[in-house]
Amino acid sequence: MHEHPQYDLHTHSHFSDGTTSVAEIAELVAAAGLAGFALTDHDSVRGWEEGRAAAASYGLDFIPGIELSTRENGVSSHILGYGFNPRDEKLLTALQQIRLMRVRRVQEIVAKLSCDYQISWESVQGVSASAETISRPHIADALISSGIVADRTVAFNTLLHPSSKYYVPLQELRTSTAVQLLRKAGGCVVLAHPAAFRNKTIVSREQLRSLREAGLAGIELRHPENDPQKLARVCEAATGLDLRITGASDFHGSGKPNRVGSYTTGGDTVAKLREQMLLPS
Ligand code: AMP
Ligand code: MN
Ligand code: MN
Ligand code: MN
Repeated sequence: MHEHPQYDLHTHSHFSDGTTSVAEIAELVAAAGLAGFALTDHDSVRGWEEGRAAAASYGLDFIPGIELSTRENGVSSHILGYGFNPRDEKLLTALQQIRLMRVRRVQEIVAKLSCDYQISWESVQGVSASAETISRPHIADALISSGIVADRTVAFNTLLHPSSKYYVPLQELRTSTAVQLLRKAGGCVVLAHPAAFRNKTIVSREQLRSLREAGLAGIELRHPENDPQKLARVCEAATGLDLRITGASDFHGSGKPNRVGSYTTGGDTVAKLREQMLLPS
């Protein structure tokens, strides 16, 4: 393992929709024999300091990151930003707006659900006390604590599913705008799980080419939720666009079955990505 250092470049803590602390992630990364990890909470950089300290205590490399939900030309995407200036004014303003929009959206979904189920905004707040970003997984947790569903997976497949009458869509940034925002803040940008099972429409070659022009550096082709059939088409679309291929687990603690280190990125690729980061650690 020492000769071929491996990194997990996509993890979530309880500062967004993960269920563990940042320190617990570092412990799992060390136990998996990895060289380092990136913390990529949704719309939040709150865990960065703790990530640096916890990584150092285990002798791990730390890469500060974030995940943003975006949409363009009818294609919904998630993008990972790494090593940007967390105090960039434009980015900070955008993140604050996104988190506020998320709160309103979760409140709307909860209001609809509360007509038929024992759930309230207060109960969602109760299960998301440590989170800076509130999202559907926290509604799932409130439903679990009331005994309405067994786990997050059941909640997402039923009451929280986009086809559910309780669903309210999320307002998303344009994908190319988000890439530019992160690039201008000094970040390196990777397209997350481009062939995820829940993606209805996958990114086209033309769109990938224009995202590449906007500053996209990599694409997360190794991810537990990439559907092999869609993945073949995404790989084809990405061929020859000079994008780095990454792998990561998208760890969410007990919120998802994804385990730390189940998919990884080699040290050579990480070094190349780090060249684009204002803050490579
Ligand atoms: P939202 O951003 O509020 O639309 O919720 C989407 C988030 O829920 C994503 O960040 C996923 O990590 C999480 N998620 C999606 N599907 C599931 C699932 N089946 N089980 C657990 N978490 C999920
Ligand atoms: Mn998530
Ligand atoms: Mn995602
Ligand atoms: Mn994620």
